[in-house]
Amino acid sequence: MSEPIADWTKGAEAIVYQTCNACGARQYFRRSFCAACGSPDLAEHRASGAGTVYATSLVCRAATPETRAHVPYNILLVDADEGFRMMAHGDNDLAIGDKVLARFTQFAGRLVPYFAKAK
Ligand SMILES: [Zn+2]
Repeated sequence: MSEPIADWTKGAEAIVYQTCNACGARQYFRRSFCAACGSPDLAEHRASGAGTVYATSLVCRAATPETRAHVPYNILLVDADEGFRMMAHGDNDLAIGDKVLARFTQFAGRLVPYFAKAK
């Protein structure tokens, strides 16, 4: 496997996904093997940040004291244009099927991807 690309979990403004060189599957969570076929032959790519809203969930009660200042906030499932699905924050007025684009913002002291409607 090649050198990992720094992504937002490492403080870089990037969304990274993996493709399997054996079966072509795509996955968002970084693993050392393909979730579909078990192959360790994976490549990492930087995503464009463009996608479509698959589901939304407005959070009105803070789970932790650090997130209380952000309530209410929207948790989205986004189908990225590259073919993987990810969970992320986004604008509260987003609806299923909206085309979105990721930027990055601070949430409870961490850098996180944040989706807004694509213009
Ligand atoms: Zn595979």
